[in-house]
Amino acid sequence: MSSGEKRFPLSLSSVVDKKTARPERRFTDGSSQTAMQNSQSARLGRVAAPVAVSSVTERPAVSDGVRRAMVQRVAEQGVRDELVLAAMQAIPRHLFLESGMVGQAYVDASLPIGYQQTISQPYIVARMIEILRNGVMMDRVLEIGTGCGYQAAVLSLLAKDVYSIERIKALHELAKNNLRPMRIANIRLQYGDGMLGLPQVAPFDGIILAAAGLEIPSGLLEQLRIGGRLVAPVGGKKQELHLIERLNQKEWRKTVIESCHFVPLQPGMV
Ligand code: SAH
Repeated sequence: MSSGEKRFPLSLSSVVDKKTARPERRFTDGSSQTAMQNSQSARLGRVAAPVAVSSVTERPAVSDGVRRAMVQRVAEQGVRDELVLAAMQAIPRHLFLESGMVGQAYVDASLPIGYQQTISQPYIVARMIEILRNGVMMDRVLEIGTGCGYQAAVLSLLAKDVYSIERIKALHELAKNNLRPMRIANIRLQYGDGMLGLPQVAPFDGIILAAAGLEIPSGLLEQLRIGGRLVAPVGGKKQELHLIERLNQKEWRKTVIESCHFVPLQPGMV
């Protein structure tokens, strides 16, 4: 991987592969949301890096330092992918939390975001994306469980198009509000049941689940491109992180990565 020569931390512009950027695509059913519908670059049809990230950070120098420490801890726990680490450095996690939680934003822990849901622990976000992308810039990625939108923002620096589904309307709205000021052009948020996936946009190079089911919904396996990768927590009280690779039309290969702990994957919408 050419990124091996780059120095950490990378600038945002070096994280996003401009050569592969292309005009944004929208859902055909008209029900989609883009995180930056009103931004100028969207009107111009360009895909832009979230250049406003540091400008929406109230005290960038302060949060940069604590975020660097968080990224360092994630690296020490074994995440090696430099572009994933750089994306974690670039996205201000504290902006996804309510004001009372901001002080804990860079602790390596999951934190409450309301509605009995959590923002995932930084380590597991990084680890899952590292496994998902396997050193390759992804084209189309689907996230199940937008929550506050943090992981979608990290993914947006490592994929050309990120689609993210959330089943709780209030969290879908929260994610929209969190992402809007960051002006990320390549995220589409969808309110719906992620267990059904997004057949109208499939196939996906990568599918990532931020909530654990007892098994991986078969519709999601079908929406994986041949050669594509799906990363998901599986289980109830005891959970494991699974990597599923689609080998061909009818075959998928499962690899168990490590134990993990996620909120449950639930059907329907609320
Ligand atoms: N991606 C988030 C993690 C959110 S927690 C982050 O960046 O931290 C997992 C989320 O999955 C919750 O918001 C929960 O409501 C959602 N979820 C659970 N089952 C779902 C389903 N079937 N479809 C879509 N979202 C689901």
